[in-house]
Amino acid sequence: MTMIRIVISGAFGKMGQLALEHIQKRDDFEVVALVDHKGRAHPFLSTYFTVDEALRKESAHVLVDFTTPEVVYENIIAAIRHGTRPVVGTTGLSMGEVETLQALAAEKKIGGVIAPNFALGAILMMRFSEIAARYYSHAEIIEGHRLTKRDKPSGTAAYTDQLMKTSSPIQTEIHSVRLPGLVAHQAVVFGGEGEILTIRHDALSRESFMPGLLLAIEQVMERDELIYGLEKLLDLSL
Ligand code: NAP
Repeated sequence: MTMIRIVISGAFGKMGQLALEHIQKRDDFEVVALVDHKGRAHPFLSTYFTVDEALRKESAHVLVDFTTPEVVYENIIAAIRHGTRPVVGTTGLSMGEVETLQALAAEKKIGGVIAPNFALGAILMMRFSEIAARYYSHAEIIEGHRLTKRDKPSGTAAYTDQLMKTSSPIQTEIHSVRLPGLVAHQAVVFGGEGEILTIRHDALSRESFMPGLLLAIEQVMERDELIYGLEKLLDLSL
């Protein structure tokens, strides 16, 4: 069994902490260091201020990133330059940035995964919406997240919209709700003559993101391109 050596950036954030807990439960994964922009200490793991510094000092197969839209782009570039595969949950990257990163990864022949949503149910919701879009002319996407979420609309809503439009000339609008108490919710409402179809997913806790994250870490070791979207790692054919 090959041990996958992992650095986690944003390690003291909500997703970073949960990712650390779940990764540490796996016998085939090893967290070798953490990255935190405030340099917070961990009882038994080294913490570095930047991804670049961590990957200069530690040899790692995978960088897991749950930080912010402001720093994620530079973090991925640093990972690719060091030959470390990025597995990124941070949202807010533009499609232009994703394409630039894919070109850099291709040049360096390094695999990676950028997944705006690691919840398997959310991936199914997007796929079902993509199929339904072929049969409707109008749909509204209503996404809800906690008050402090920085990007609006969510990466998942923007991506659902993009997927729906690849299979249909459908007209859409995205509505963003930011309220305390929400985790990650999305409804895609299709309107037709005399009917409404609603496809809905609710992430009730951050635990819902962990199976998808662990799957991406496993699978990224077999890939030699930077993949955008967890669905590309799943069999969603009919
Ligand atoms: P969070 O709790 O705010 O964590 C973000 C982390 O990044 C914190 O440790 C924060 O430190 C750190 N940070 C803030 N500014 C930074 C900077 N300039 N440089 C480096 N680090 C910085 O947020 P979260 O809920 O864990 O979410 C993190 C990201 O994951 C967000 O983009 C969110 O949308 C995304 N997310 C994705 C999924 C998915 O399935 N793909 C699921 C949930 C969330 P301080 O707080 O100390 O500043």
